[in-house]
Amino acid sequence: MAIFTAYLYLARISEQVIPHFFMKRNMIDNQPRDQLPIKTSSHLETNICQGKSPNLSPWAIPIVLFALFWIIAILFWLTTGRMFYLFNFGYIGTALAAGLGVYAWLPARKKPLGRRLAQFLVGAYMLVFLGLLQRENMQIEGFFFYLLAGLFAGSVIHYLVAKVVGVVIFNRGWCGWACWTAMILDLLPFKRHKTEPLPAPWWGLRYVHFGLSLGLVAFLWWGLGYRVEEQSLTELYWLLGGNLLYYAIGIGLAITLKDNRAFCKYVCPIPTLQKIPARFALLKIAGYAEKCTECGACTKMCPMDIDISGYIKNNQRVLSTECVMCLECVNVCARDALFANFAVDRLAR
Ligand code: SF4
Ligand code: SF4
Repeated sequence: MAIFTAYLYLARISEQVIPHFFMKRNMIDNQPRDQLPIKTSSHLETNICQGKSPNLSPWAIPIVLFALFWIIAILFWLTTGRMFYLFNFGYIGTALAAGLGVYAWLPARKKPLGRRLAQFLVGAYMLVFLGLLQRENMQIEGFFFYLLAGLFAGSVIHYLVAKVVGVVIFNRGWCGWACWTAMILDLLPFKRHKTEPLPAPWWGLRYVHFGLSLGLVAFLWWGLGYRVEEQSLTELYWLLGGNLLYYAIGIGLAITLKDNRAFCKYVCPIPTLQKIPARFALLKIAGYAEKCTECGACTKMCPMDIDISGYIKNNQRVLSTECVMCLECVNVCARDALFANFAVDRLAR
């Protein structure tokens, strides 16, 4: 519990303190969204898929991801002797690579279909097969319960791979390309939201949510002596109830705030786990400062309200831990100023 509390604290300050110590302030942080200029252009090709990135060929991310997942699949299979791991990680790696491959292959206007494909192939598999059929409690409380019980359940592996360790390599790609909650939220019509982001205190809600989930688990575990059982009906009910609640809140918030990703920004507890590894993630959005005209099209398109050109003009990659690697900014830039690449960012300049 003490370790989690310390982590929570570090995650909270990582987004407040690190930017102030290590980054120059963003230049248009407080500019209203509807005052940001936007360019219209029929030229919507992307660097990542045009091979113009200095570091990446168009197929680099799908190939790296595919290889990595199959290596994990084979290693887990050989060390545990369970075919399930070979199937599970092999499937997820193949599904993600397929979505990214389709993204790379399609013309600019249709590229988002590649991301949607990956979201449904992975998100639906995890929710239906692992969650409903295998009765794994994939909610964050399930992760805590399995950890306390010392069970190396699918939920624990999923959280460690997709939401903690994998973030160091692929950033919050989980949120952009695989999450089963966002899979539904991204179907809503408020992709390019018109409203202002909520003020700072609302962004702390996710930490409250994380703390409440942790507190509930601690109370049930130590206070009431509840013990988790693998593949039990209780875990299934928890998963169903938790997900229905997430969908209801997510859809309600999206409609109220006219913002598909409002749930991700203000309520979801998962970014709390991702914040610190995301800051050091190898995969990030980068750009050519000399090409950027600060038109603001990327920021206007960004579902996570990130001032992308502010970073690019500072000769930085997009260091914000809110980035979900959706590549919408790359796709919308009429000057081909943005791309995704693997690199190590310097902390201080
Ligand atoms: S922030 Fe939460 S709901 Fe949104 S994509 Fe990430 S894990 Fe899913
Ligand atoms: S910075 Fe770009 S890739 Fe990251 S969330 Fe915003 S639009 Fe998506």
